[in-house]
Amino acid sequence: MTMSVSRRSLLALSAGFGASAMFGDSALAKEAKLGTQSPYFHRMKVGDAEVTVVSDGPLPLGPPKGTFTGASDDEIKKMLVDNFLSPDNIVLEQNSPVVNTGDKLILFDTGMGTSQLFGPITGRQQKSLAEAGIKPEDIDAVVFSHAHVDHIGGVVDASGKVLYPNAQYYIAQSDFDYWTDEGKMGSPLKDFVVHARKNLLPVRDRLVFFKDGQEFLPGVQALAAPGHTVGHSMFMVTSNGKSFAFLGDLTHHAVLLLEKPLMEFSYDTDPKQAAQTRVKMLSMLAANKIPVMSYHFAWPGYGHVAKAGDGFHYYPEPMNMQL
Ligand SMILES: [Zn+2]
Repeated sequence: MTMSVSRRSLLALSAGFGASAMFGDSALAKEAKLGTQSPYFHRMKVGDAEVTVVSDGPLPLGPPKGTFTGASDDEIKKMLVDNFLSPDNIVLEQNSPVVNTGDKLILFDTGMGTSQLFGPITGRQQKSLAEAGIKPEDIDAVVFSHAHVDHIGGVVDASGKVLYPNAQYYIAQSDFDYWTDEGKMGSPLKDFVVHARKNLLPVRDRLVFFKDGQEFLPGVQALAAPGHTVGHSMFMVTSNGKSFAFLGDLTHHAVLLLEKPLMEFSYDTDPKQAAQTRVKMLSMLAANKIPVMSYHFAWPGYGHVAKAGDGFHYYPEPMNMQL
């Protein structure tokens, strides 16, 4: 088998050389490399709602050791390599859906903002929104899955100016209280507390606390998914009979924490509770075949989860460029 493949490759290669010779120099003309990328947004319809996913840029976590626990180093390496992923650097995406219901324009999570805690390639949400033709002043609602810096970091700019001046802001009260608590400034959580205070206190008078199960905006229901943080929440977004679930940080990795959902993640406030929540919610989503949008999955983070062995498998939805 190997022999026939390599023979075919050789044949293709020699045919290519033949074509070059036939077409002369033009087939070998050199073009300057462009060094540019496509805009970092993706647009689709869910029911009557228009959903635009915007990115805050990739977020490199570094090597998995110490961050993902509950499996041996060799096992983790094999899971990554078997899925053609780097075993040396776990790179997460930051996918925020912006949902236009017709009445409201709702942004879920705001990225790292000006923080460089995970390096210089995050913090492009404003740019992505501009590429998508969405004006920050038109956002009516900003919904937070939880108060970690990669989700609340983009509320204010470097000067402290609020970037969504006409929005109401929505979060679970337990998460707001936990991460803005000045008493934690002397703890290892300090960096997270600094950014939560910097971004959430300026909009304190515009914050609305949702409750588990509450439809706090038309077509948007909060579902408590605790463990990653105390008030971590996911959201069911429904329009004209169609739904998707915005998972926030229910799972940070489409391979490691789906194939082995009981593995633990070091940034979880309560890793064991997070793992139980993960299994419970993924089981519900798989059983009901509900599409998911996962904040940290590979761009644009939209697809389905299904049961696979003792865990789950993620099937990304094809990015058909139509409306
Ligand atoms: Zn996150």
